[in-house]
Amino acid sequence: MSTGELVIEDLRAGIPGREILKGLTLTVRSGEVHAVMGPNGSGKSTLAHVLMGRPGYEVLGGSVTLDGIDLLGLPTWQRARAGLFLAMQHPIEVPGVSLVESLTAARRIVPTDETAPDVNERLHAEAARIGFDERFLDRSLNVDLSGGERKRNETLQLGVLRPRFAILDEIDSGLDVDALADVGKRVQEATTEWGLGVLAITHFHRLLDVLHPDVVHVLSGGRVVATGGSELAEIVDRTGYAAYT
Ligand code: ADP
Ligand code: MG
Repeated sequence: MSTGELVIEDLRAGIPGREILKGLTLTVRSGEVHAVMGPNGSGKSTLAHVLMGRPGYEVLGGSVTLDGIDLLGLPTWQRARAGLFLAMQHPIEVPGVSLVESLTAARRIVPTDETAPDVNERLHAEAARIGFDERFLDRSLNVDLSGGERKRNETLQLGVLRPRFAILDEIDSGLDVDALADVGKRVQEATTEWGLGVLAITHFHRLLDVLHPDVVHVLSGGRVVATGGSELAEIVDRTGYAAYT
């Protein structure tokens, strides 16, 4: 069971010439689910990209550590090796590379426990858990998949790789009600199965009905402007973000 913490402290970051995150602080511990909500353009995806080290974003100040390891000084693959995973808001198509190939490559750098089954075995078990059609497993990564299928695909990768901390950038977008329930349940179970810590970016309370947040943060203008329990998500759902901007 994983124990540890992902600590984001006074993070300031953006693109050249524009600061988007303006001093963001939050800590996610193993097994916890933190929801990040916020209006369009508030910097949620920027946070996800900066945490994972996407090229084109600059860090202007602050720190991000995973069990004391400075992530911001590491290339993306080493952040993954340290235990960080990102489910992208818009998963990209990778023609010519199958899901199995990409996961086999990823497992070479991501530590797995000695008894972990091989990629194929785990892939099929995880596909069954979230009702992902096996027909898609041999296709090129995300090619010709619908939005919802891509989100299931991201969840599948999470289940196979079993990272310590996962950032889910609108994993609910494009999912129908049944798929949402499957995905939410799978992620929720991971928090107790291996102690996954989750930063779930979402607009909608409906994800949080299946993936229960321990803490809810509202992001606005690149800062956390409110933090609370699950009741905060309900309030935002009812009243919108106006009170927080
Ligand atoms: P959210 O995910 O909360 O909707 P984003 O983090 O995607 O917001 O974007 C925050 C702001 O920064 C937006 O105004 C967006 O247009 C801008 N932005 C983010 N990334 C880039 C980029 N690579 N190039 C230009 N503008 C960007
Ligand atoms: Mg976004």
